[in-house]
Amino acid sequence: MGIRYPQPVLLAAVVLLALASCSPGQSVHTSGSQTGAGAPVVFRAATDDPVVFLTIDDGAVRDPAMISVLKKAQVPASLFLTGDYAVDDPGFFRRLRDEATARIEGHSIDHSDLKGQGFADQKRQICRPARSYTKMFGQRPRLFRPPYGSYDETTLRAAVECGVSHVVLWSAEIKDGKMSFAAADRLRPGDIVLMHFGGAFRENVAEFVRQADRSGLHPALLEEYLR
Ligand SMILES: [Zn+2]
Repeated sequence: MGIRYPQPVLLAAVVLLALASCSPGQSVHTSGSQTGAGAPVVFRAATDDPVVFLTIDDGAVRDPAMISVLKKAQVPASLFLTGDYAVDDPGFFRRLRDEATARIEGHSIDHSDLKGQGFADQKRQICRPARSYTKMFGQRPRLFRPPYGSYDETTLRAAVECGVSHVVLWSAEIKDGKMSFAAADRLRPGDIVLMHFGGAFRENVAEFVRQADRSGLHPALLEEYLR
């Protein structure tokens, strides 16, 4: 209750079941890629390696202690930053990227719900941060996460035009120091875990480490598994 899962997760589960008989072991959903026009949507990375991925969203709350928490935990992370927060304090995110192991990715300009918006508006929401992050952080984001996990086919087409290789959702979420799973009761190889820059940051990172250990999995960098 109260946990946000990506809206298409049920549909994706059905798609996965349908795919399971012809492609055992696949765990990447590629909704939208059938036409060749949209970026693939990923809830988990397709890998048998014993790895899990931490992703941290938005950037509204920033505290230098967060940098040492991630550094000490030795947890790599993908930071899906909302443009408005990134431009507020690029120095903080540069430090986080350099002192911990992190990559900076896109999460729209202002965190509006993209689903149902026109192509030009969606493209602006995805492309503008991609351009400004290239200047601010020296690297163009390759991944995009739609705010609220809410997207449509237009989002996937716009993402491709902004140089996005994958639209990234999630398969588990940590909030208030506790993890919720989209399926099963523990992490599985390739799971993508969502948390936010916000309260209980230390507890949330500790919970990620605890759940990874419990499942015999190692934190890894998502970008290295999504090519
Ligand atoms: Zn967000």
